[in-house]
Amino acid sequence: MTEIIVGIDLGTTNSEVAIVREGRVEVIPVAPGTGTGAGARILPSVVSVADDGSLLVGDAARNQYALHPERSVRSIKRRMGEYTAVQMAGKDYSPQEISAMILRRLRDIAEAHIGATVNKAVITVPAYFSDAQRQATREAGEIAGLEVVRIINEPTAAALAYESCHSGARKALVYDLGGGTFDVSVVNLESDVVEVLASHGNNHLGGDDFDQKLVTFAVDHLKEKHDIDVRQQPLAMARLQHAAEAAKITLSDQPYAMLSEEYLCEKDDVPVHLSLEISRLAYEEMIEPYIAETIEAVHVALSGAGLTVADINEILLVGGATRTPLVQRRLEEDLGIQPRAEVDPDLCVAMGAAIQAAVIAGDQAPTVLVDVTPYTFGTSVLEYFNGEMYPYCYVPLIRKNTPIPVSKSDGFCTIFDGQTKVDINVYQGEDPDALNNIEIGRFTIEGLREDAPAGNALITTFSLDVNGILQVTSREKETGLVHSITIDNAISRFTGDKLAEARERIDGLFGDQDGEVGRPGAEVTSSGGETVEGGRRLRVEAAALTEKAERLLASSGTEDAEDLVNGIEAVKDRLAGSDAELKTAIDALADLLYYLDA
Ligand code: AMP
Repeated sequence: MTEIIVGIDLGTTNSEVAIVREGRVEVIPVAPGTGTGAGARILPSVVSVADDGSLLVGDAARNQYALHPERSVRSIKRRMGEYTAVQMAGKDYSPQEISAMILRRLRDIAEAHIGATVNKAVITVPAYFSDAQRQATREAGEIAGLEVVRIINEPTAAALAYESCHSGARKALVYDLGGGTFDVSVVNLESDVVEVLASHGNNHLGGDDFDQKLVTFAVDHLKEKHDIDVRQQPLAMARLQHAAEAAKITLSDQPYAMLSEEYLCEKDDVPVHLSLEISRLAYEEMIEPYIAETIEAVHVALSGAGLTVADINEILLVGGATRTPLVQRRLEEDLGIQPRAEVDPDLCVAMGAAIQAAVIAGDQAPTVLVDVTPYTFGTSVLEYFNGEMYPYCYVPLIRKNTPIPVSKSDGFCTIFDGQTKVDINVYQGEDPDALNNIEIGRFTIEGLREDAPAGNALITTFSLDVNGILQVTSREKETGLVHSITIDNAISRFTGDKLAEARERIDGLFGDQDGEVGRPGAEVTSSGGETVEGGRRLRVEAAALTEKAERLLASSGTEDAEDLVNGIEAVKDRLAGSDAELKTAIDALADLLYYLDA
């Protein structure tokens, strides 16, 4: 057996320890029997002294922080390299000693898990750490009984976990947004050597700021609705903090979340409950300025490296807060590259450290194995597309390379008053025009509230499991009415050649498209064995127009009504006829509607 060297991510908020065994990277659970979820492998970087004088590290210490801050220390990483004393329970400690308590706990965890002594480690530090800060980290390791065989940069570790350095010479942007810190690094990857070219960031920006926005939202609501200022009540504020973080995490996967706390406080001896809904849209507006700041930092790092956006081959996401969909969207919009998020962003630095440790120990560089979906899945909506309303605008819900199993939801709205049914189409592909993707299923949700005005909210959820079974569910938000379908083999359905064939078929159709309509009339067979008819878009347009015309009928004068009826009849008569005739009738009706609407 080769030498045991563990990899440690010694973070500001959280720390993890990982090891390579039998060619696989394992991040070690921090408490026995806590399962394998990411949460179970994260040790909060907090130390505290308990009532009986014993030392607490991790969750127990974090829980105690709120009650006894004078007996607890957190975020010690910010003080590393300073010649200063930190007070805990009336005693002075150096930053190295506090960090050593965290490292010692990680070492104990690793030893219990492996069943052997651990006395060597690779530890990661931010790229911007000075020599003094690196030296302090090394000393912390030594105090904890660990020989620090190498200190590596966090972005380097991330690149190792993503195996980026095995794909030839490349340049990557490592975007790391944690709880309280943000770092972006530009790295050069060449023949297994990772070099940090530039880095930039903000030591006081992260997911905790996002929580704070939600806390303020709740505080304002309580002030307005109950005339209470909870800011003066530490316990209520601590509970709000928890509720805000939970809501924030929900909003990464769901279009709405509840900020709720029973008996949050009292007003005139009457208990006050908090129950406040927030939409992802409203939340994204709150955090937008923070994300804009990080994007600016990306450009500062790029110019620091003497590079432009065009030089970057990939973006690697690190840090729990990068699960925020707005972060991923803004990066993609700004840099034109879909960021890579397949390695757990909380664990990838520890994994990279373990990979480096294995290489030093003389092992083959192992691979981080993750099950990801090779395709993007989504649905279609009526929206503006190239300046016109178009019913097949593609909305991806599960992006390719997302680890599976995964479940993602998004909110949609009915288009007109009293709309009782909605068609849900399910596609696989990337094109913004859903009809250029592959339709793999569809269903109709019927029986929606008749009295609901336009804008009745539906929540559509895509859940993909490790066997490639995709379940799509649509739920009327107000009533809970649900319809769903299950698509077996959503992943293996179009692999390799078959996908290329389908693409070619669709590309071929564009060759003979009729410029006026912008859509072909030939036949395409979809994956479900159904036929996507020629001229289907024309017929969809016809249905949408006649529906709108019929609604207008009720409110228009007799003269207009007659014209409308004639227009509707003309379109309906030509539905079974040629595309050219149908198009003439559609154009006439569209002109009429335009005139009446104006
Ligand atoms: P880290 O310092 O890398 O462990 O990141 C911790 C931060 O990530 C905290 O602010 C968490 O609340 C945040 N976080 C964890 N999971 C999610 C999620 N699913 N969506 C948004 N933020 C998250």
